[in-house]
Amino acid sequence: METREYIKELRIVGGHVALDFVNTVDGTPDGESRFENLRDHGDLVAWSTRVGLITPDEAGRLGREAERRPEEAEEVYLDALGLRDALYGVFRAIAEGREPPSEGLEKLRGYECEAISRGRLAPGEDGFGWEWKDGGDLAMVLWPLAHAATGLLTSGGLDRLKRCAGCHWLFLDASRNRSRRWCTMEVCGTHEKVLRYTAKRAARRGDA
Ligand SMILES: [Zn+2]
Repeated sequence: METREYIKELRIVGGHVALDFVNTVDGTPDGESRFENLRDHGDLVAWSTRVGLITPDEAGRLGREAERRPEEAEEVYLDALGLRDALYGVFRAIAEGREPPSEGLEKLRGYECEAISRGRLAPGEDGFGWEWKDGGDLAMVLWPLAHAATGLLTSGGLDRLKRCAGCHWLFLDASRNRSRRWCTMEVCGTHEKVLRYTAKRAARRGDA
């Protein structure tokens, strides 16, 4: 499989894999300067492998299948982006204390149904869990993702869900006093501090 170095460099800071998936688009809250980090089915597979949703062996098999059936791979990729948009809508609403959109919940439910119907209960280190074998199905990459997102939605702890004050990314605030404001201090936190400092200096000079 092709090495996709840029996937390895993506920041994983959401505190939950479903939020990290939502955070695979960069950009500002107003939707300007959006930058897509997942460019095709191969990126989706590489990212899923990096975050541990699928194994490198499965990724290899999916990669070979995708080469044989590029159109189907593209469809799965577009489905993943649709699921990601839905998840963003749902989790962002929760982070902002609003009711999540019912279409988003319904979309997730649809993928979760498919995931469960295609999954298998298998023993793990800490009890049983769901397991997916691809069996050549390119859509397999969506199942652990949908299941993880449903897990986050149903497991509690959503009162720690926040949206970054500097960009649109979402994260679980694990800090003791729940004071985390940024996805990443070095990226969004510093930027905001610089803006504040510049504004203060401008105010002191009397030109703001
Ligand atoms: Zn941010």
